[in-house]
Amino acid sequence: RAAPDDETKVSPMMAQYIEIKAANPDSLLFYRMGDFYELFFEDAEIASRALGIVLTRRGKHAGADIPMCGVPVDRSDDYLQRLIGLGHRVAVCEQTEDPAEAKKRGSKSVVRREVVRLVTPGTITEERLLDPGRANVLLALARRRASESAWAYGLAAVDISTGRFSLGEAEGGALAAEIARLDPREIVMAEAIHQDPDLARLWRDTPAAVTPVGRGDLDPASAERAIKEQFGVQTLDGFGAFSRVEVAAAGAVLHYIARTQLGAKVTLSPPTRQAAGASLMIDAATRQNLELTRTLSGERAGSLLAAIDRTVGGAGARLLAERLAGPSTDLALIRRRHDAVEFLVGEEALRAELRAELARAPDMARALTRIGLGRAGPRDLAALRDGLLAARGIATALAGAGALPGEIGKAARLLAGLGQDLADELAAALADDLPLQRRDGGFVREGYKTELDEARTLQRDSRQVVAGLQARYAADTGCRTLRIKHNNLLGYYIEVPQAFGETLLKDPWRATFVHRQTMVDAMRFTSVELGELETKIANAAGRGLALELEIFDALSASVIGQSEAIVAAASALAALDVAASHAELAVELNWTRPVVDDSLAFRIEGGRHPVVEAALTRSGEAFIANACDLSGDKAGQILLVTGPNMGGKSTFLRQNALIAVLAQMGAYVPASFAHLGLVDRLFSRVGAADDLARGHSTFMVEMVETAAILNQATRRSLVVLDEIGRGTATFDGLSIAWACLEHLHGASGCRALFATHFHELTGLAQTLDRLSNATLKVTEWKGDVVFLHEVVPGAADRSYGLQVARLAGLPAPVIARAKALLAELERGEGGRGRKAPAELPLFAAMPPSVTPAAPVEKPDPVGLLLDGIDPDSLSPREALDALYRLKAAR
Ligand code: ADP
Repeated sequence: RAAPDDETKVSPMMAQYIEIKAANPDSLLFYRMGDFYELFFEDAEIASRALGIVLTRRGKHAGADIPMCGVPVDRSDDYLQRLIGLGHRVAVCEQTEDPAEAKKRGSKSVVRREVVRLVTPGTITEERLLDPGRANVLLALARRRASESAWAYGLAAVDISTGRFSLGEAEGGALAAEIARLDPREIVMAEAIHQDPDLARLWRDTPAAVTPVGRGDLDPASAERAIKEQFGVQTLDGFGAFSRVEVAAAGAVLHYIARTQLGAKVTLSPPTRQAAGASLMIDAATRQNLELTRTLSGERAGSLLAAIDRTVGGAGARLLAERLAGPSTDLALIRRRHDAVEFLVGEEALRAELRAELARAPDMARALTRIGLGRAGPRDLAALRDGLLAARGIATALAGAGALPGEIGKAARLLAGLGQDLADELAAALADDLPLQRRDGGFVREGYKTELDEARTLQRDSRQVVAGLQARYAADTGCRTLRIKHNNLLGYYIEVPQAFGETLLKDPWRATFVHRQTMVDAMRFTSVELGELETKIANAAGRGLALELEIFDALSASVIGQSEAIVAAASALAALDVAASHAELAVELNWTRPVVDDSLAFRIEGGRHPVVEAALTRSGEAFIANACDLSGDKAGQILLVTGPNMGGKSTFLRQNALIAVLAQMGAYVPASFAHLGLVDRLFSRVGAADDLARGHSTFMVEMVETAAILNQATRRSLVVLDEIGRGTATFDGLSIAWACLEHLHGASGCRALFATHFHELTGLAQTLDRLSNATLKVTEWKGDVVFLHEVVPGAADRSYGLQVARLAGLPAPVIARAKALLAELERGEGGRGRKAPAELPLFAAMPPSVTPAAPVEKPDPVGLLLDGIDPDSLSPREALDALYRLKAAR
């Protein structure tokens, strides 16, 4: 941006703009001018592109036009939402004095303006800017050296919209997985962390807004002080034991919140600690592959989350997403959640009642935050009223339900203990129809407060008095069209037709009516009587509004006074919503309660893929359920799955991983039976995923990710590898897949599913005792392949590549040619015992047999070359060249 090279040319307003913008260089500046927020210079260009609004010019600066665009204040929320969605930050700059005041200082004086708030993706609280079913997490990082070569990270995650606050520590290797679990909207960190080359890929790939904040983390002493101040405590001991880097991260997050809210105090719950290993570790790539909360294309629709979400409220939906993102590894906790679901599965009527009440309960936690911040409207108070009333209904329903399992009993006790005075008070105070803003008034119920009723009566009566006055003036003057009207400029005035106005200017009317304005065909007057009446009306209205605002503040204070109990009630309601959602789903789709223990079992009968099944059901097709057993005593089993493309390998692999996730998040599972030993880490990779956009060779990415699995998988882990090694030449790929299998079988000892098109690997089952083969059954019908999607023991006998290619619509001549080639290749192979050219895996024939674990045969290069030569079609020159090539290949 050009700096003003000639100060004298800068208008006072522009000077003010430039000064404020300079203080907020990393935000788009919404500069308030009347009914608009205006943006200038580069900000205007960015915003006009992002919002599709017209870019105009306003005046000149340093000799050039100033680009400008603006958004109307009353529709600014929509624009803010879009800018924030795109990862921008916005500094909202308001006029902080009456323009009349500025005029008094002199004609050139500019209205005082100040940035009142920074709006960033991680710090929004407005209902319209928030996604009801998604937590809005702001994450701050701090770090310390854990060793010569490794860092340990402190993570402080705050959802300002609900006040949730959690702290945790992760070693460098687990940082990415932790961030993926927390799924923040914004991450703040010191410049040094942001610049760390080892983390560059993480910052580039995260969907969160990444905000470097200078030195960032406060020194430990100030961090501790910030926490103590936030919670008004003398010591942190009451919160549990936090490590130094957790405290540093907490300090950083509080510091950032203070910076963006500019003094408004955010109410936060005391920080909870997420112990390392408390949740099933799932790295970002696995989450993506399994499409847990979002599909590969980034949408919620089509994800596992969307398929299982039967919650009826925003808080419930957020809790469900949180549990899905971080399934538990705590057996007792998992079982308690299953108990709650089981109970609700059996209580059809109670479940329906609960869900009906829950659907009536608004988002109390978010309304509470806005009340605490002073950004609330009457509808936020109503949200608390309705939430508390729903809580009461639910408490009553549960009280009549007999013996309750632990989780539900806990919720029931909490809700029953909730003081209901506040709900009654709010119900008595709030009117039925509520305005959006408190300054609009009219939200307090008639009969709630005598003084307010009196002021309102006075207001109403005054209007009748005005009508009476108008009638009297009309009768006195004989002008039947005389009207008393009101506008913002004149207030109340008397209007008569032009001709009649002339009469009023004369005696005797001159004494009563004072001329104010002459219009084209009318004249306007006022009178002493009318002036007095106006004051009375204004006073009554002002008094009424003042009383309403007082009531609003008093109610807000009562709410804040009980915020702890309300937060607890809101989370109890969310937990009930989630349990009821699981139960509803289980009944609807016939899911079962999994047996989870600390064994290394993994036995599933009749397993299904919830998302694929839902899609098939919609199109009237049936999903074929499949069993899977990876159970082992001291180490897990590995299942090697081969079969034609489109046979259902990927679906089968993923459904088993999803069943583990569902079981450990506390849900029922899509199977007729499931017995699972706790899984500590879940890995899932698909070979040759297209990653070109990120400028990485696909194969490189695949290998980096495979390396992570081999290094991190433990005996308790579940590993799902789909076509690993596909991204390179066949012999490389085969050897890599082979070695990976051996490593998983030996060093890792994990439970694993491994799909491959390298049929050579099936021979390994004879030497690796915990490896077995499975394949997807197919049959042929009139030359077409028919996929049965049934998983059976053994190896695939053919790949059906040609049939699949034909189903895919490859032109008939190409198929015919491929068929001929395949026959030739198969003959050649039989003759020389050599593998088919492996660069054509789709069309590859099965090798007759492979010696188990034998080193991979090197292809015979001379043979390959000879295969490619058709002597009859060679010119003498070509024949000579071929001879040279053959010699060189030997
Ligand atoms: P592969 O990985 O072997 O190429 P996929 O798992 O991608 O095959 O499955 C291909 C298609 O087959 C799926 O999109 C789905 O429509 C169907 N399918 C897969 N598994 C089943 C099943 N168990 N029952 C019914 N249809 C299935």
